[in-house]
Amino acid sequence: MSELKLEAKSFFDYIENGVLVGSRCLNCGHISLPQRYICPKCKSDQAELIEFSGKGKLAAFTVIYVPATEMLAAGYDAKHPYMVGIVALDEGPRISAQIVGMDLSDPQKIMIGTPLKMTSLDRVMGEAQKKVLAFEPAEME
Ligand SMILES: [Zn+2]
Repeated sequence: MSELKLEAKSFFDYIENGVLVGSRCLNCGHISLPQRYICPKCKSDQAELIEFSGKGKLAAFTVIYVPATEMLAAGYDAKHPYMVGIVALDEGPRISAQIVGMDLSDPQKIMIGTPLKMTSLDRVMGEAQKKVLAFEPAEME
């Protein structure tokens, strides 16, 4: 893998292009997501950029009926709840993101361990339209 150019692009620029990146410490192997200059485990500043498959499993979730202002603007409310989950990526790290494409009418039926894959959502933030990271159910094979 080429030398890590953490500053070249931000985590969110990669998301815009549908790529989920992190970093792997060259000293201890710890994986960070988003990428980090300094390893949180051993404090080494030697790391390489890695690209995740974007696949994982649902590890925990919550269905939100009282959205934050930004999500109200995106059209969510008590009648249109949304789901936020912790996704355990196949490579190990966990990430929190909105989960789409799930039936929220009966959250009790949502299964921990559901296979998920990365997607993105368009969201208006102030003046700008941004893509934000989200996950959706992966097709069963
Ligand atoms: Zn380390």
